[in-house]
Amino acid sequence: MDHLKSLIREVPGFPKPGINFYDITTLLKDAGGLGAVIHGLEAHCKDAACDLILGIEARGFFFAPPVAYALGKGFIPVRKPNKLPAATVKMEYALEYGTDSLEIHADAIQPGQRVVIVDDVLATGGTAAAAAKLVEKLGGTVASLAFVIELDFLNGRSKLPGYDVFSLLHY
Ligand code: AMP
Repeated sequence: MDHLKSLIREVPGFPKPGINFYDITTLLKDAGGLGAVIHGLEAHCKDAACDLILGIEARGFFFAPPVAYALGKGFIPVRKPNKLPAATVKMEYALEYGTDSLEIHADAIQPGQRVVIVDDVLATGGTAAAAAKLVEKLGGTVASLAFVIELDFLNGRSKLPGYDVFSLLHY
């Protein structure tokens, strides 16, 4: 795990002062690192027994499709507003200043299907909580939420009570 951490570039002050950005592009370009991360997420998702793997735009799209492929499952995207072409369901969530929202295709999940949510970073948890609500709005069950990185000091888990939350790396 220390080796994986050494492949992640920390960029202080991006995108604004006070934020320490965890840049996973340096991990993605390392063949061994990419393989280890996908296998680590795959191993957890296998245990969660799911029907679909959901990725959150944008960096969740780097990880969710290869995990879905490795498990022989389908992939579904959750996107920023007005990107998905067919009928959507929307969830608004609070940011530090203001609100943002995420959308999913209304027919992406059939009632009763079990879904694992994948993203790169669990920070304050608002994004992941909104994705979980979208799954449930469509009648799905959140089997687990899986992240490459969790920023423990932001306590994003507190926004995900009762869910199975897994992260490969903790800071
Ligand atoms: P949050 O809703 O606060 O949990 O933020 C999660 C989203 O913001 C994830 O999709 C991450 O891609 C991104 N994010 C938040 N903080 C960071 C950070 N320090 N480094 C990299 N990405 C971050």
